[in-house]
Amino acid sequence: MKDVLVIGAGGVSSVAVHKMAKNPDLFGKITLASRREFKCEAIAKSVQERFGATIETAQVDADNVDATAALIDTVKPDLVVNLALPYQDLPIMDACLKAGANYLDTANYEPRDEAKFEYKWQWEYQERFKQAGLMALLGSGFDPGVTSVFTMYLKKHYLDRIDTLDILDCNGGDHGQHFATNFNPEINIREITAAARHYEEGKWIETPALSTRQVYNFEEVGTKNMYLMYHEELESLATHLPELKRIRFWMTFGDQYLRYLDVLQNVGMTSIEPVMYEGHEVIPLQFLKAVLPEPSDLGQTTKGKTNIGNIATGEKDGQAKTVRIYNVCDHEEAFAETGNQAVSYTTGVPAMIGSALMLNGTWKGEGVFNMEQMDPDPFMDMLNNHGLPWQVRELAEPLKF
Ligand code: NDP
Repeated sequence: MKDVLVIGAGGVSSVAVHKMAKNPDLFGKITLASRREFKCEAIAKSVQERFGATIETAQVDADNVDATAALIDTVKPDLVVNLALPYQDLPIMDACLKAGANYLDTANYEPRDEAKFEYKWQWEYQERFKQAGLMALLGSGFDPGVTSVFTMYLKKHYLDRIDTLDILDCNGGDHGQHFATNFNPEINIREITAAARHYEEGKWIETPALSTRQVYNFEEVGTKNMYLMYHEELESLATHLPELKRIRFWMTFGDQYLRYLDVLQNVGMTSIEPVMYEGHEVIPLQFLKAVLPEPSDLGQTTKGKTNIGNIATGEKDGQAKTVRIYNVCDHEEAFAETGNQAVSYTTGVPAMIGSALMLNGTWKGEGVFNMEQMDPDPFMDMLNNHGLPWQVRELAEPLKF
């Protein structure tokens, strides 16, 4: 029970596949398939050069359920790891059901024509996976993923009850480009330009995108501006941990990034509404993606660190308590190990860990699960042992905002 089929061959996939190949005790045969096979072959070559391990490659259009199911039938993996784009989540889940394979991903399904970031479509697969005796694990990246596991670790070991949760995502790295996104530009810009939403006292509160700014001093990175945003783990945490009275998500952005984004947005380049150009339908955001640097090419020049983690307030043994938990990841160290920068690294490593825990049966179930429904301890141990060590400490007081 160790063979995997990984779909998608971008930055996140590259890290996950390198880490899988580096751990032959956890993974058996690794097959990497994507829309363009040469991207898989480049990753296979790097894995061979770095770790002397051989991985198989294949071509697949994961929007095509029958083609993906046929590939699963041929490869016969114990687990399909979806590291393509959120648009492919449902077709790959359908293919897994058709061919009888377990499923894991790192981001929730997105319809192409509307930025939604909702779990409802994937949660609707609950009964079908259950009846097939299969497991689907959703969101095994960093956020969602590690931040969800961090929350449950605090709940298990530090707080009897969590009242408020803030997730803070800081990328203190500099790639030296005028404007680039750290992961898939289309998904990244859809996420950032969507209205901010947070959860408070049972209600979702919506505010304009990037309109709420606070400053936080991130360990090993320094003081940064961070902005209130919507992020998909808010929905699943509000569902699975109903004691939470407030959950917010913050992400840091530099002034230059926001200036460029503002211009691009104002001229219509971030729109997902099709426009006609010389007789062809063009989606401005997809065209923008085509001219921006590939996130997987940023590793060579990126310096600095990421710091992603949570601050939870609540009660332990009747006493009010605030606890901080976080990971710091160095872009250059991530690049030296896998040839990819820290944003891909911090997503690819948890994808590898979630896969390993499913394959060895430590995390098991029938149906569709989010990360916070699993025992956090084995995942937390593996983070420490596979390149994403974490720190936890008590804070003297809660956040003042
Ligand atoms: P990339 O754009 O770098 O890679 C996506 C890969 O998927 C590409 O190789 C692409 O192929 C392939 N792909 C796209 N469409 C298809 C298709 N129809 N069939 C087969 N393959 C396809 O993205 P990233 O590596 O940056 O991100 C991967 C995933 O990770 C995304 O879903 C992203 O949202 C998620 N993510 C999650 C995070 C978390 O913390 N949870 C953080 C960052 C990312 P091609 O090369 O031919 O274009």
